[in-house]
Amino acid sequence: MLSLRSLFSKFFKNTTSTKKSAMINLILFGPPGSGKGTQATHLVDKYNLLHISTGDLFRSEIGNKTPLGLEAKSYIDKGELVPDSVTIGMLKKKVDENPDVKGYIFDGFPRTIPQAKALDTMLRESGQSVTLLLALQVDEEEIVTRLLNRAKTSGRSDDADENIIRNRIQVYLQNTAVVAGHYAESDKSVTVNGMGGIEEVFGRLTAEIDKTLVHQ
Ligand code: AMP
Repeated sequence: MLSLRSLFSKFFKNTTSTKKSAMINLILFGPPGSGKGTQATHLVDKYNLLHISTGDLFRSEIGNKTPLGLEAKSYIDKGELVPDSVTIGMLKKKVDENPDVKGYIFDGFPRTIPQAKALDTMLRESGQSVTLLLALQVDEEEIVTRLLNRAKTSGRSDDADENIIRNRIQVYLQNTAVVAGHYAESDKSVTVNGMGGIEEVFGRLTAEIDKTLVHQ
């Protein structure tokens, strides 16, 4: 006969796996200025997901003058990556605070292989995985133009200085681009042309997402 405890655990296991299997976990990927944040705000509406931008989380910590914010600022101001331990801890906290969502759009995370592995482990622990990584491709000169323009309204000092922008692009090429390859190993990485208007790029992204969801 089944004990009360095993009946309970069976019940909760089943409800958890039913809910989690329906989740959509997208990584919006690409160099700074490729339109990740803009596209994420449209995608969350269409797919009813939670948008998590590590850049936004850092800026909020900086605004609140927390110790984490102060540490992050020293890296962000130079266009360098914030250390993995700090970034992963902050991301995990945000995910843990929001378990009852249909899925996540990770924007600006993961930016290194250790971050990607930490994300995979974290999702696996709750019976989930990354659904798809969408890598936006934009020409370097277009990135510089977009970010210098954005600086006029964003007030972001890392957008206002061309040297810092170029350093961020180098960091992307050296440390971050490999993350797309990590997900390509499991056939979960697609490249999307990020040049053109917002609607046009949105159409390309949703076409890829819908294609993947049909086959899930
Ligand atoms: P973003 O808003 O995504 O352009 O990020 C702004 C800055 O925050 C980056 O240039 C990095 O200094 C820092 N940052 C954001 N996300 C990460 C991450 N996943 N890993 C390390 N640093 C990050």
